[in-house]
Amino acid sequence: MKDEPIFDPGQWNLTSLQSELCTRARELAAANFAPRAAGYDKDARFPTENYVDLHNSGLLGVCIPTQHGGHGADLKTYMLMASEIGRYCGATALTFNMHVSSCLWTSTLADGIEMEPQVRATLESVRTEHYRRIIEDGAIYAQPFSEGGAAAAGKKAFGTTALRTDGGWIVNGKKIFASLSGHANYYGALCTELETPDTRPSRRNTMYLAIPATADGVSVTGDWDPLGMRGTISRTLIFENVFVPDSAQLMPRGLYYQTARTWPHMFMTLTPSYMGIAQAAYDFTVQYLRGEMPGTPPVKRRMYPTKQIAVAQMRIMLEQTKALWFQSITEARPNPGKDSMIRAWTAQYSVMENANEIAQLAIRTCGGQAMLRSLSLERLYRDSRCGALMLPWTAELCLDMIGKAALYEDGESDEQPA
Ligand SMILES: Cc1cc2nc3c(=O)[nH]c(=O)nc-3n(C[C@H](O)[C@H](O)[C@H](O)COP(=O)(O)OP(=O)(O)OC[C@H]3O[C@@H](n4cnc5c(N)ncnc54)[C@H](O)[C@@H]3O)c2cc1C
Repeated sequence: MKDEPIFDPGQWNLTSLQSELCTRARELAAANFAPRAAGYDKDARFPTENYVDLHNSGLLGVCIPTQHGGHGADLKTYMLMASEIGRYCGATALTFNMHVSSCLWTSTLADGIEMEPQVRATLESVRTEHYRRIIEDGAIYAQPFSEGGAAAAGKKAFGTTALRTDGGWIVNGKKIFASLSGHANYYGALCTELETPDTRPSRRNTMYLAIPATADGVSVTGDWDPLGMRGTISRTLIFENVFVPDSAQLMPRGLYYQTARTWPHMFMTLTPSYMGIAQAAYDFTVQYLRGEMPGTPPVKRRMYPTKQIAVAQMRIMLEQTKALWFQSITEARPNPGKDSMIRAWTAQYSVMENANEIAQLAIRTCGGQAMLRSLSLERLYRDSRCGALMLPWTAELCLDMIGKAALYEDGESDEQPA
């Protein structure tokens, strides 16, 4: 039997593009990604075959504008279709997010920003080549920003530097947890531009550069044997005196910083994988308790009141999470107000924490035979635990931001004047 959509197009009022892309993603992921997911997880292996499928089905360019050969999906459309992928393979959905971000930042989000005609012309010229590589060559982009310090939380300038030189930049630095490392064709790295080696680093000078994986000075180090999201291959990237030409900029100088400030909902793009996992853990439980789980004896367990109550709790949590998430991605827009931001952080927190809560309830409710590695539930549980750790909006930082925003108005402080 085919799975129902996570968001029914009629009930959730989806556009025809949203409905079409969600259907395509769900059918592809159910048929091809679900059977491969256990293997990627077991061996901590990158889902290369899934990326070939994504390219062949046209989904690799989902957020590339139509005039450049893509589907022109906006933030909400992307989030909805990616949640359908997360349902069948969390690691594919999470790495797909890193790839798609390189298109979202440079298209819908950047397009709405005020800029000089010359800056817009530069953006158009650099992104044309970037989109061509994806559509024609099936190129994959990573999104390494984490460095193990406060930069990934948006609190200080990136320690990876791009020193201006004739015709380009010399990049030096280290990125940790770089998903797709060793498998992406380009690393869409966030760096701080320096005019001279003595320039004081500033977040305003953040550069977003596409560093070819084959460039001299790029290396991948460290092993990757984590609890969950094992197929993401999030190893450490080293850039040592890597020269990249002017054409490597994914966004002209200053535009990334401006776009990140204007479009904070962009940081929610890490959630669809976990929205999908929450749905998958719930679906698993219903199928299992009904005695319909392929590969297990047809034993029904649904008649016990404790099971019914647990499923009700899971469904309540799933519905709350879906509704809040849907509202937040629907109201995402440039320069959102404070209420909208509090809701976005609340939605982020809820998806990341509830996915894990639903998965752990699923294990308790289905019982011992359901957590064997031959079934997907224990992987959903391990993968779901990783969501709360994703900077810049970790579950902890969301709590910090919600609490502060609720109690303080802009510029308010408890410091007494001296
Ligand atoms: C499966 C997986 C895939 C990932 N993929 C990528 C990727 O592709 N690209 C990428 O750039 N990163 C990626 N990350 C990294 C992720 O976004 C975080 O940077 C990383 O998990 C944080 O590592 P840490 O715990 O060492 O951070 P730390 O900096 O040690 O922070 C620990 C915790 O302290 C809190 N904290 C951090 N800074 C502050 C602060 N300034 N104020 C208050 N609290 C703070 C946060 O809650 C944080 O979770 C991935 C992580 C995982 C688990």
